[in-house]
Amino acid sequence: MISVKNIYKTFHVPHKVYALKDVSCEIAAGEVVVVIGPSGSGKSTFLRCLNQLEKADSGHIMIDGIDILDPSTNINKVREEVGMVFQSFNLFPHKTVMQNIRLAQEVVRRRPAEESTEKTYTLLDKVGIRDKANVHPEQLSGGQQQRVAIARALAMDPKVMLFDEPTSALDPEMVGEVLDVMKTLAREGMTMVVVTHEMGFAREVADRVIFMDHGEILEVGTPEHFFKNTRNERARLFLSQIL
Ligand code: ADP
Ligand code: MG
Repeated sequence: MISVKNIYKTFHVPHKVYALKDVSCEIAAGEVVVVIGPSGSGKSTFLRCLNQLEKADSGHIMIDGIDILDPSTNINKVREEVGMVFQSFNLFPHKTVMQNIRLAQEVVRRRPAEESTEKTYTLLDKVGIRDKANVHPEQLSGGQQQRVAIARALAMDPKVMLFDEPTSALDPEMVGEVLDVMKTLAREGMTMVVVTHEMGFAREVADRVIFMDHGEILEVGTPEHFFKNTRNERARLFLSQIL
């Protein structure tokens, strides 16, 4: 589903930084990959390159057979296939939950209002907040807002879902409800790339764990391998700090 070959991404403010350095990986359909690593290691940049919020400087990225770095590829088309959920929810504050989830369905997917409304209720059922359809985001808890953000991404019927620290901004008591929604998605076969510090989620749900540091993938393995036998010194150090 996702094939990344030798991508590089540099930033030049204030001096040259390799946010991604020769990153390659293959992610199969239905696979759940958890990306971990210290702050500044390139995790967000990696996700953002997968949906073209950032453009890699060089290398190749194929998503479901589409070469997303090919200048002739329609970026909006790519974004329709790749859903993204951020730490900070990013809901439209002046729109209701229903409007937030309907908007792209109607504008981008050109669904009739009746169809997008029905789809929105189905998704709100899925994330457990059908009763919140007509309220504004500010009237919701952080966990509820994040579930709306997930429903909104799913409304586009993406082939891949990217999550960038989706529970990091939440009060601890709300982390579980968001992870539960993500676990359900994983069980249903969604292809997911998840940046998270929730190692319980990684253990339980991930097919593979990727460890990044200084813009490089330093280790890839199953959770069993990773948490018990990682030989990479920096990965061991990182784990000892967060576990
Ligand atoms: P992580 O998500 O693992 O914390 P990031 O991908 O956000 O890491 O950042 C990787 C590196 O790229 C860091 O050194 C960061 O400062 C730098 N970086 C990321 N985004 C930008 C940007 N828009 N401008 C300049 N530097 C950036
Ligand atoms: Mg980040």
